[in-house]
Amino acid sequence: MSKSELNCSFCGRSKSDTNLLIAGLDAHICDRCIVQANGIIEEDSKEKVESNFSFDLKKPKKIKEFLDEYVIGQENAKKVLSVAVYNHYKRIIHLDSKNDLEIQKSNLLLVGETGTGKTLLAQTISRLLNVPLAIVDATVLTEAGYVGEDVESILTRLLQAADYNIEKAQYGIVFIDEIDKIARKSDNPSITRDVSGEGVQQALLKLLEGTIVNVPPKGGRKHPDQKFIELDTSNILFIAGGAFNGIETKINKRLNLKSIGYKTEIEKENINHSNILQHITPKDIRSFGLIPEIIGRLPVLTYLNPLDHFALKQILTKPRNSLIKQYEKLFEMDSIDLKFTSSALDSIVKKAMEYKLGARGLRSLCESILTDAMFESPDSDESKLTITKAYVDQKLSKIQMPKLRVVS
Ligand code: ADP
Repeated sequence: MSKSELNCSFCGRSKSDTNLLIAGLDAHICDRCIVQANGIIEEDSKEKVESNFSFDLKKPKKIKEFLDEYVIGQENAKKVLSVAVYNHYKRIIHLDSKNDLEIQKSNLLLVGETGTGKTLLAQTISRLLNVPLAIVDATVLTEAGYVGEDVESILTRLLQAADYNIEKAQYGIVFIDEIDKIARKSDNPSITRDVSGEGVQQALLKLLEGTIVNVPPKGGRKHPDQKFIELDTSNILFIAGGAFNGIETKINKRLNLKSIGYKTEIEKENINHSNILQHITPKDIRSFGLIPEIIGRLPVLTYLNPLDHFALKQILTKPRNSLIKQYEKLFEMDSIDLKFTSSALDSIVKKAMEYKLGARGLRSLCESILTDAMFESPDSDESKLTITKAYVDQKLSKIQMPKLRVVS
């Protein structure tokens, strides 16, 4: 290299080693460094995508009307959720207005058996508001440093759901399923380290309340070199759900204890023993093993009813995208008019209840019933297919219990 030859001021390559060397006032840059710098700029701007994120916040009654289109029954949960969502986003919209009074977040806790619509409620709300939704399972979370996922991974999912638009993610919804599974295992937390129970609850606290978290954009520990993204969780709506199996006993115990002492006859009569869950209070959740701090950060508590025959039958046909409507559409694409008789639907529901599959079982039952028809009909000349009770019973008599996934 001759003394007078020009060099790239960034990487030091001499002009002869580059394809192009561009001159600035006092410096030079080579083609490779330009490409590299461009990559850095692109990456950086991807993380800072600005959006004019705004939403058209509907009033609680309108929110509930929307939920009614997709979620059958669960009147109380839908009402409570509509109000909580309205308050949460109203609080965000008016955040800048001069007001010394700080309004608390309306994070929710939904208690109800599996397959009663907890996830569906969260999904429907995110669809209505057009905000990103992350659905996470609390059982995979562990305290930092242990095998499993750190709680920050929840926010990685949210970022992904928001296409890495930080602002959008910060107004998103996180649904934490199976929160009951991270209940404290024993009343004495000091005996053993409870990494998947109380430890996780502690780790979740800050997230629920609102804090700035360094989120690994690609998730977890597999990419140790990635640049963290700062995410503020203050405006993220957290909805936790769980079946809390056995909590009825605790509620009953509490109600009975009270009724011995202070309750009047009239109050005792108001207790609905067929659906004891509606009497749930934060105290019951606490005796189940969630720590008081977590309960305090999930201030809106509501319940979902078990689904009875009537509700399951409605689920088959009523929601906007109900299962039967979906099958009708699929057959319509082959120019076949598919219909189910009312007693055929009753038979499906009866089977779902027998197997204790709740609404989750409806799909697999319908698949089993219609598989043969879906296999044959694209080649047939028939323009009509009516599914009767006899047809359902015949198809269902052939299926084996283990073929269906029983969700406990
Ligand atoms: P959970 O979260 O309570 O375990 P999901 O919301 O995941 O239950 O419900 C599973 C499926 O069952 C949903 O995708 C939906 O198709 C159906 N489903 C459950 N509950 C209802 C309901 N109340 N109304 C309409 N569909 C429901």
